[in-house]
Amino acid sequence: MKELRPLTSLTKLTTGRMAVAAMSEILEAFGGAGYVEDTGLPMLLRDAQVLPIWEGTTNVLSLDLLRASEETGGFDSLLALIQRCRAVCADERLKEATALAEVSAGRVLEWFGQRSRAEDHRSLEAGARRMAMTLGQAVGLALLSEHAQWALTCEGNERAALAASRLAAEGFGRLIDPPADATASLALDG
Ligand SMILES: Cc1cc2nc3c(=O)[nH]c(=O)nc-3n(C[C@H](O)[C@H](O)[C@H](O)COP(=O)(O)OP(=O)(O)OC[C@H]3O[C@@H](n4cnc5c(N)ncnc54)[C@H](O)[C@@H]3O)c2cc1C
Repeated sequence: MKELRPLTSLTKLTTGRMAVAAMSEILEAFGGAGYVEDTGLPMLLRDAQVLPIWEGTTNVLSLDLLRASEETGGFDSLLALIQRCRAVCADERLKEATALAEVSAGRVLEWFGQRSRAEDHRSLEAGARRMAMTLGQAVGLALLSEHAQWALTCEGNERAALAASRLAAEGFGRLIDPPADATASLALDG
């Protein structure tokens, strides 16, 4: 259960940001009416926005993730979690999705390992935000795929598998095809 420590910061960071993005999308779906206070929708967006503040801001949780790695000796437990999810996926779409998650997390952890061994703390802090968001997406995709496999097997339900495929196709293009100098990109965008 070593993964629980880094997962705590990662989950708060990822879900807080997703809540804001999802609520914003919902307001937009209502068009101009979504902006009007009487609908109650703007209040939901405001309430969602508090999550990435009071759960810990993105920057602070990203730095906490670095601290978690010091406490638990790195992020191998997160990679192992993704690999466990991948191992249970029999559906081709989910196999592909979890493979993407593993490659993406592997690249990030390679970047992290290089900087850690060099004790390059400035670079680690500069890239912590991007690292955390990428890892959060990768772990999220792996867990969603694991659930989707269960839903397919036990309920014959396709919905989660479709969501995982869509997330893999749309959310990971940027992460799987980084520019040639991926390490510089991590640090600059962080
Ligand atoms: C409605 C509401 C209810 C709350 N309830 C509680 C409660 O019940 N109990 C409680 O303890 N707290 C509560 N809080 C406080 C909340 O936890 C803090 O607001 C939150 O942790 C952010 O801290 P801050 O406001 O001091 O902002 P700051 O820490 O000043 O952050 C401001 C900005 O600076 C960035 N930043 C800060 N430090 C760094 C750094 N080292 N490197 C890079 N960037 C950095 C942050 O990411 C953020 O963007 C509540 C807040 C709100 C809005």
